[in-house]
Amino acid sequence: MPVNVLFSARPELWPVYEPLLAKGLTEAGLDFCLGTEFAPDQVDYVVYAPNGGLMDFTPYTRLKAVLSLWAGVEQIAGNATLTVPLARMVDHGLTQGMTEWVVGHVLRYHLGMDHHITVQDGVWTPDAPPLASERLVCVLGLGALGEAAARALAALNFHVTGWSRTSKDIPGVTCLYGEDGLLTALSQAEIVVLLLPDTPATENTLNSKTLALLPMGACIINPGRGPLIDDNALLDALKTGQVGHATLDVFRVEPLPPDHPYWAHPNVTVTPHIASETRPVTAAQVICENIRRGEEGEPFLHLVDRTLGY
Ligand code: NDP
Repeated sequence: MPVNVLFSARPELWPVYEPLLAKGLTEAGLDFCLGTEFAPDQVDYVVYAPNGGLMDFTPYTRLKAVLSLWAGVEQIAGNATLTVPLARMVDHGLTQGMTEWVVGHVLRYHLGMDHHITVQDGVWTPDAPPLASERLVCVLGLGALGEAAARALAALNFHVTGWSRTSKDIPGVTCLYGEDGLLTALSQAEIVVLLLPDTPATENTLNSKTLALLPMGACIINPGRGPLIDDNALLDALKTGQVGHATLDVFRVEPLPPDHPYWAHPNVTVTPHIASETRPVTAAQVICENIRRGEEGEPFLHLVDRTLGY
């Protein structure tokens, strides 16, 4: 019997993924049937993104696993109708894109690029930026994306501190964890990068108390998820100058409403959730490998711990 794989994501992605998945599953030696429509009780695997509209897994009685195209799984991790393994996306292309985006925005702050780009005022002020080794950067979240970004920043000689839930050992990065670790990490951070998942435990990681720990004028870069930051607390911290500038890629409501104060704020850069995206060529390989594993009784890669929500 063929393995039936349902693709449930934005319809325009189907023509992109269909040949890539077909190639990968053929190479895995599987007899398969790929499609965007099946009788629910005939589906073995769902290739999933929240914008595919699938919410109720109850009729999917033959389902073996849901394979997310997204790294962030906050929209499905708590779905009570899902009782089979859920794997999230860890994709080399996605990671590389995020590393490039983070490094670019850290360098923007580090080098003070805005001043030279926007303030051509005829005043010759030869203030050279410090070396990266003199700049304190903190990466909150040291998973697939945070670790790669932290390593890249460390390779540029930034003084990098990282923070995660469990302890880590990453060359060139001072790794901290737990509540005390966060306080230490923030109190030293001139630039903070958020690459945490959106879970009940990470909501408002940056709030009025934790923002007050930052050195005056610190900069924030959030490509993680909107709920990681208490927006009112950030706006207050921008007003007092505790936070000098924020670059925000993700928001509690997306698209960010046109009247949101972030859009017009002189010290906020809004980017429209473009820090990085799943790259079909590499992502399809990950999906096919997980289907192969499922069929051969091997453990799935990148399983989500549903109790933790990531
Ligand atoms: P991972 O699951 O690999 O890593 C998550 C990291 O966060 C881990 O280091 C984990 O700690 C840490 N963490 C989780 N909960 C806590 C907590 N309560 N306290 C401290 N640390 C915690 O995720 P990824 O790196 O793959 O992705 C991170 C997020 O990036 C995604 O969830 C998504 O929201 C966002 N994203 C944004 C994109 C964009 O374009 N803007 C694109 C892709 C992803 P530990 O290692 O100890 O488990």
